Order: sequence, then C-alpha cells, then structure tokens
Amino acid sequence: MSYTQRARERILPLSQAGNLPEAIREWCFTGNTTDHEQANETCQLCGQEGLRYHFEIRNTATHHRLEVGSECILRFEVAVIENGRELNPKETKRALKQHMQKMRLESCLRALERLANSENNDILANALKYYHINKALTPKQANVVFWRLAANRIDHDPTFFKVRLDKQKYRDDLAKMQRRDVHRIWKALSPSQRKKAEDLGHLPPN
Ligand SMILES: [Zn+2]
Repeated sequence: MSYTQRARERILPLSQAGNLPEAIREWCFTGNTTDHEQANETCQLCGQEGLRYHFEIRNTATHHRLEVGSECILRFEVAVIENGRELNPKETKRALKQHMQKMRLESCLRALERLANSENNDILANALKYYHINKALTPKQANVVFWRLAANRIDHDPTFFKVRLDKQKYRDDLAKMQRRDVHRIWKALSPSQRKKAEDLGHLPPN
C-alpha cells in the first residue's frame, strides 16, 4: 500500500470530507511535539516506522487528533498556522525545522541536567548553565561533557550539541587540544568547524 492509500484509510473515518484532498484541508498542526528519545514510534497517518519525533495534528471539524511524522505534514501539506496565517510550503519546512531544533536543544539540556545531577562537579554544573544561556558549549566544556556523559552512560546524541568557535580564544583552545579530545567532540562540530579543526592541524577520526 502506498503512503497515500494508508493515509486515506486512516484519515477519512476521522474527517467529514469523503476524499483525501478535502479531508486533509480539515487538519492542522497543533504546535505540540513529542520527543520519544528513541526512534521507535509510528506515524499515525502513513504508518511509517522508526520515528523519534511526533508532531500532533488536529481536525478542526471533528476534533480528532493524530501523532504524525514531520514528513507527512510536508507530504500532504497539512496546514501549519502561525499568527493566524497559514504558512506556505517553504515557511512550513522552516517552522518544522525550528520545532526539531528546539526538541534537540531540550534533549541536550536534559542530558546535561542528568550529568550535573550525577556528579558533584562545578565544570558540569557550569556547562549546564552555559548551555541554557548560549545554546552551545566551549570546546573545553564539550570535551569534559562528552567524557563524563560516556562515563556515566547517559543517553545522548552528540550531533545535537553545538560547540562555539566564534571567538579566537575557543579556536586557540581547539588548536591546543589533544587529538583524542578533538575526536571526542568531533560529532558535535559542524562541517565548517571540522574544516577549521583540520586547518588548525587536527586530523579527522577514522
Ligand atoms: Zn507519515
């Protein structure tokens, strides 16, 4: 069965309209999202499995709700409304990306909170405070944080974390770091930051 067939079977009983295009027009994104932390969830619209994030949509006529993947909102052009205006597809993509980034930031903060609570360590307590304010870590903080997250077996995705290299001091610190430590924070670096690390004389991990 195709995405469209599955979506039709799923959505028509919960909508007033008798065909998919009109039924979809009754639905909109509520702004509610859930991070399930593991990619084990299913899209209630198309049946796609392996989702980590759910985006809630609601039928404005029947008030039914479904938890779906962001791709289905884009694929079926489910309405996303901001400040009373329906976003166009390009704006929708950007808005969903912002929701995703917010969930990833919150995921990093949860990991940092667990870490700060599991060790009596000022560096970790300060890293948590710093992330709340700057939404990123310094290279030195990132090194300690990833080391201790692994040591405490705290579930986290290093690619969600952001590292600052916007000041000369941070670039100097990165330049002076040992290869092992640079590799520890590597996944948190953006492509341009990885390039910068290589320009500073570091080798990428194998
Ligand atoms: Zn879907």
